Order: sequence, then structure tokens, then C-alpha cells
Amino acid sequence: MAPVKILSKFALLFSLFAPSLVLAGGNNGSVPNETYDYIVVGTGPGGGPIAVNLAKAGYSVAVVEAGGDNSDNIFSIVPGFSGFVSEQPDMRWDFFVDHFDDENQQKKDWRLTYRKTDGTYYTGFNPPEGAVKLGIYYPRGSTFGGSAEINAITAAMPSDKDWSIVTDITGDQSWSPPQVYTHYEKTKTWLGLTVGDFTGFSQNAPNMKSIFEGGASVLGETFDAATQKDINDVYDPQRDFVPGAFPVTYHVDSMGRRSTSQTYITQTLAEKHANGTSKYKLTVKLNTLATKVLFEKKKGHQPRAKGIEVLVGANAYKADPQYDPSVTPPTARIFARKEVILSTGTFNTPQLLKLSGIGPAAELTAHNIPVLVNNPLVGTNLQDNYETAVVHTGSDGYPNPAFSVCTFTPDAALDPCFAEWETTGKGPYGVGPNMGFIVKSPESVTQNNERDIFVFGGNYAFKGFWPGFTSDMSTNATTWGFAMSKLNSRSAAGTVTLRSNDPTDPPVINFRFFENGADQDLNVLNYGVQFGRDALNAVSPSSPLKPWTEIEPCYEGGCTAAHDKSFIKDNAYSHHAVGTAAIGKVVDSKFRVIGVKGLRVVDASVWPRNPGAFPTLPTFVLSEKASVDVLAAAPHM
Ligand SMILES: Cc1cc2nc3c(=O)[nH]c(=O)nc-3n(C[C@H](O)[C@H](O)[C@H](O)COP(=O)(O)OP(=O)(O)OC[C@H]3O[C@@H](n4cnc5c(N)ncnc54)[C@H](O)[C@@H]3O)c2cc1C
Repeated sequence: MAPVKILSKFALLFSLFAPSLVLAGGNNGSVPNETYDYIVVGTGPGGGPIAVNLAKAGYSVAVVEAGGDNSDNIFSIVPGFSGFVSEQPDMRWDFFVDHFDDENQQKKDWRLTYRKTDGTYYTGFNPPEGAVKLGIYYPRGSTFGGSAEINAITAAMPSDKDWSIVTDITGDQSWSPPQVYTHYEKTKTWLGLTVGDFTGFSQNAPNMKSIFEGGASVLGETFDAATQKDINDVYDPQRDFVPGAFPVTYHVDSMGRRSTSQTYITQTLAEKHANGTSKYKLTVKLNTLATKVLFEKKKGHQPRAKGIEVLVGANAYKADPQYDPSVTPPTARIFARKEVILSTGTFNTPQLLKLSGIGPAAELTAHNIPVLVNNPLVGTNLQDNYETAVVHTGSDGYPNPAFSVCTFTPDAALDPCFAEWETTGKGPYGVGPNMGFIVKSPESVTQNNERDIFVFGGNYAFKGFWPGFTSDMSTNATTWGFAMSKLNSRSAAGTVTLRSNDPTDPPVINFRFFENGADQDLNVLNYGVQFGRDALNAVSPSSPLKPWTEIEPCYEGGCTAAHDKSFIKDNAYSHHAVGTAAIGKVVDSKFRVIGVKGLRVVDASVWPRNPGAFPTLPTFVLSEKASVDVLAAAPHM
């Protein structure tokens, strides 16, 4: 689907901010070196908030981002269109990953994708002659605002233990949940968080409502009571232990627009003094790929980060679907008086550290990279929320009278639903009323006694990722299903290793799913699948949805738990990668890279384990926390 460019209103709005933005899109001519107090690389949930906070504290900050400005992309802005945003070619990088070392196990996943001899993709069990295996598709956002611009906007706080684990590892009390919640409160001052409006839901979406009622009843709750709850009530001491049904919360503002670090940075750039000059010394350099960190080395001292080297030009990374091998972007250097902060995400941060000489000595030496710090743990500890789905065909679809007038055209004159969203932020294209079920499996008792699986469902079949997945979200109008994201996955055996010393080459990524605790984690996922079935079965016998026919995992009927677990193992997917520059392994509790000075990592790669079921909101909060830590070490302005 071609990206639909812009509402004129947004174009106008953005042009007001443009003078503060350096859109470094040219790829010829020389690029002068520049110096700032801080350099933040990456504008996602990790990089965005800290860049703003350092600038608001009076420092000059360069924010360097490989992606371009897509703040006008309507699929990203409008919640109702967000199902299509993750495959927008201007906004993504295409990674292909392994789930297993064992090739035969990997080949049991029908999503395994190959590059055919004509350059196009093949996904499936029977690749044509000459096709080269790529792996399992794993999109990431590469755009102003990072992956949060292309994600599914679900915003959920993790459990207390996901914060206090850092205290357990490092002894740093500033990670105690009550302290962290001050950063959560700060995050809420700029990040829009919105729950779908359930008004009229009963009349407009009776089938969807009966699915949610089914799920709530399995947990002993009523739909009406569940809609009144707050999924992010972190102050409830029982929150992490009690299963429940909740209205899903999204990072969307009160006017129905996606809210991210891109919007936070953009608003900050727009703040002016009375004389019209910019209030803050914040410079955003888009289309600029950092290729390594530069260090100052003095005898008897730890190396100190003094800047970065960059390639200046759009689409410079080979995972970019618009990468052009005939273009050679110019290089430049940007210098930092104080610190360099890497926020390039779970795949790119370990790559950048290794390219800069920080990583396992043997791996660096094999790629002719001089070793600055031998840390064998850089790029290890990769882990993710396992996901799976239970998919059924019902006897009816999702008739919703509110949608009948929508034309799905991003033009208020042609589409009354778009007009309603544009003026009120609500209606069919606003945040949809949705319900999540946080379930606790028997396996959690032996782990930490906490809720361990987040289940969400509706009139779609979310079956994971492969090139073109967004066009297959609903197999047909009567497809209903529950997808789920597992908390506290027991295996952290994944790695990100260098493919080469070429900074434009994506790294080799292997999650090594189920390497540890496989049986327990598969039991949990199977418990989630059974919850989904129970929820569907709990739908009233008189519902037009019934009877159900299961499509996955039990596609042949009469399945055993062993069959279902085997299916789940072969087909599990994920998209919340964390952990490759983990606190306690690669950085300390203040985000400082171990073994050097002046370099920190602030992004999802520092999580010792997955924060809850959805990493975006926790990573925004983490960036707020890091801002306080960095400023505590800096002189007051
Ligand atoms: C399709 C999809 C759906 C998702 N849905 C959800 C959801 O509903 N809820 C949720 O909580 N999470 C979701 N996630 C995950 C979530 O968006 C990420 O975990 C989160 O954005 C990670 O934040 P980050 O700052 O670590 O990295 P990112 O957000 O990935 O940001 C990293 C940024 O760094 C830039 N960068 C990388 N390398 C370089 C370099 N060398 N030089 C310059 N810039 C560089 C990238 O271009 C990117 O913009 C989803 C992710 C995807 C892809």
C-alpha cells in the first residue's frame, strides 16, 4: 500500500517547526563537524525523552536519527489506521532473524522467508530453486520517533519486579518502584495516554462485546466493571498478582493523535522566546546514521567518548527497504563536550558498541576492529515476549453500524469518519474500545507468582510477522482470535553479532527461543491458548457468532496439549526485543557503559529482562529516569 502523504493541516503545523530541524538529507558535498554538550543517537522511546530533558536543562543537544521525518504519515497518526503503519517503506528497517540454531526446527515455521533469484521474497515451506534463506521477518521503526511510530500503540506498565530487579542486580535503590513511579508521573505530563471509549459499544459492536464478555466471565468479572478499571494502576499493591480484564490503554493524545517522543521533541522545538528564537538548544539531525563512537584515549585513564562518526544521507542502512547500493553517503563527525548517549534500540546499540571496539574481543578481532573494552556480554541476553495466537472462524463477523459510513479515505471532505476524527479525535478512526486479559498460569507459582500472560482479542487473526503481514490481519470477515504476549520469558540466550565491520550491514540476530525453561514457557502459552478457547466458549449459546471452528493451533481437531505445545513452539513469534546491553552486564545502574567514560545507553537494550508485556511505556519511563541520572552528574546550568 502506498503511503498516503498528509493532511495539509499537519504539513502547515510542521513547517512552523522546520527552522529548528536539520533535515540532513543531502548526500553530496562536505558536511562540517559540529560540537554539542550531548549527543543522543536515536529518537525512539529511549532517546527522545532524554534528549528533550537535557535540552530543557539548558544544554545543547544534537539528536541524531537514521530515519527521516514521517510525522505527516497518516497511518502513523490515526489510531484507526495503525494496523497498516508497520510496513510503510519510509518508516521501517527490515530485519530477518533466527529463532533457533537448529535449521530443521527453524524450517517448521511457515513464516521462514527467502530472497528469490529475482530479488522478491518467498515465505513458506517450499522455497524455489536458488532462493536464499533470510530468516523470520522482524520490522523495526527507522524514522523520527523510532519504532513507537510504527507500533500497535499499546501502553502498559510492567510489574514492580521488572524495576526492582535492577536493585537486586546492582544495589541501586533508585530503581525501587516508588521512586520509578515519580518518573512515570513525569512521563504522563507529556505523553498522551488514552483508553478507548466504550460508549455505544453494546449497540454498535455486539459481537465484539460478547467476545470481551466471554473473556471477562472466565476471570469472574463483568464486562461493565472491567471497563472501569485502569490497567496501569501501579499504586495497587495487588496489581501484579491478580489476573483481570482491563480496557487497553494507548499512547495516543486526547485529540486522538499518536503520542510519542517525536511529538514531544517537535513540541519542544516549537517553544520560542518572545523574540521568536528557539527556547532550547535542541538540534535534530535526521537521515544521519551513526557508524561508530569516537574516543579520546589518555594514558592511565579510561577511554572517554568524545563524539560520533556518521553517514549523512537517507536510507544508508542495508535493512532499509529503500537502500540504494549505488549511493555512497559522505561521512561527518559530531563532537560532544559532555556525553554520548546511544538509544539506537536492541539490535543497533550492540552493533554500534561493537563497531566502536566495545564487545567480545574474539568477535571484534575476527572483524578487524581494534578492541577498546573486552566485554563478552555485549550483544548477549537477547530476549523477547513470546507471542502466539488462537484463531477461530465464527458464524458471523463484526457488523458495526458506526463504520458503515466510513470510506477509509484520509480526506475529511470524502470521509465523514475521517472528518469526525480530525475535529474530535474520536469516532471509528479514534482509539477503539479494546479489552486485554492479564492471566496467571499455574507455572507462575514456581517463577514469581505474578501474572504471566497478556491476552487480547478481536475480529482478526494476528499471526505474527512476514513480509506483507499487514495485508493478512483478518483472514476473512468471520475470523476471530486471541493473540498473547508472554511476560517473564525464561530464556535469554539470544545474541546480536556482527555480520561484518561495515556499519551499514545489519547484524546477525538469533533469539534462540525456548533455549531455557522451554517446557514451562510452552505450558504458559498453552494456558493462554486455553484461556482464549474458554473465552470463546463462554460467549452466549444464542450468539450469532456460534458455533466456532478452530483454525490454530488445533487445525485438525482432537488435539492434545502436546500437539498444541509443539505447534506453539514451531510458530511462536515476537516483536519486543530487549536486553542486549543489559544493566549489570554492559551498563551500570546509571546507564554508563562499563569500561569507558562519557558513554551511556538509554533504550530497550538495557532491560535485564522484558518489562511486562509491552516495552514502549516502560522505556519512555526509563528514559525519564536516565535524564535525572545524567543531569545529577552534570553541573547545573
Ligand atoms: C510492528 C511493531 C509493533 C509494536 N507494538 C508495540 C505495542 O503495541 N506496544 C509496545 O509497548 N511496544 C510495541 N512495539 C515495540 C516498541 O515499539 C519498541 O520496543 C520500542 O520502540 C523500543 O524503543 P527504543 O528506543 O529502544 O528503540 P526504537 O524505538 O527502535 O528506536 C531506535 C531508533 O534509533 C534509530 N537508529 C538505529 N540505529 C541508528 C544509528 N546507527 N544511527 C542513527 N539512528 C539509529 C532508529 O532509526 C530508530 O528510530 C512494537 C514494535 C513494532 C516494530
